[in-house]
Amino acid sequence: MNQALPPVVTTCSELTATIRRWKQQGRSIAVAPTMGALHEGHLSLVRAASSACDKVVATLFVNPSQFAPGEDLEKYPRTLQADLQKLGTLNTDLVFAPSEKEMYPPGFSTTVLPPALAMPLEGELRPGHFSGVATVVLKLLNLVQADEAFFGQKDFQQAAVIRAMVRDLNVPVQINVMPTVRESDGLAMSSRNAYLSAADRQRALALHRSLQAAQTLVTAGESSRTVIINRMRQEFDREQIHEIDYIELADPDTLLPVETVTPPTVALLAAKVGETRLIDNQILT
Ligand code: AMP
Repeated sequence: MNQALPPVVTTCSELTATIRRWKQQGRSIAVAPTMGALHEGHLSLVRAASSACDKVVATLFVNPSQFAPGEDLEKYPRTLQADLQKLGTLNTDLVFAPSEKEMYPPGFSTTVLPPALAMPLEGELRPGHFSGVATVVLKLLNLVQADEAFFGQKDFQQAAVIRAMVRDLNVPVQINVMPTVRESDGLAMSSRNAYLSAADRQRALALHRSLQAAQTLVTAGESSRTVIINRMRQEFDREQIHEIDYIELADPDTLLPVETVTPPTVALLAAKVGETRLIDNQILT
């Protein structure tokens, strides 16, 4: 059976016209911002959005300003037709899929200086990344005027940065962070998993195993940062993954490292498996 595709707009003015109409009708609006190449993780945000509000906007935009030179901007998967088909199976009222020029027209020069939470971890390894994220998310929030916005815990620091930005700049939207959706073997779903060779796909399980090992130690009463991180590192050693960007145990509110793990602490990881950089995290309870 042919699935009906959701309505798509590519310009800010078309989007604004629809939003204005919905607002006049008194509809509540939810937005789920994505870079496309949709998987179940993204779809979980759209489902949550449609249970929360009358109208759901999904955005598809591979945001160049959050990629540093030399990162995977050019090869990032772009699968618009498949994405629309997936969104057509859900209650998606509108898809906003702008071009780069629509979002960053000639003369564009304003950016968001992200909050302090953007400094460590991803911020340290990917300079400029969170400024790009904060800027595009603020633009999308301003355009969609949503009551609620949905993000994934998969990008823990990103969600924290967005929450802080929204609080600091008084953006009138409720931020919701949904649980990480995983493959049946535990690998966190990611558009970048498509880059993995079959062998690296198996090796990538080290990330989830490492988080599970941390949880097992904490459950058994272990609280030493060194003991837990050493145990987590073993999972990477076992798979001969040597390019570890960080294995961190941090306060979930400040993202500052903790010496003694007292729940809730968040364990965060980033590593390169083959050519593919993957991240994952888990709140240790
Ligand atoms: P991306 O397209 O990778 O920029 O992600 C768009 C949104 O989907 C972000 O809020 C991500 O945190 C969220 N997301 C990505 N992967 C997952 C996942 N496996 N589970 C839940 N949310 C996810």
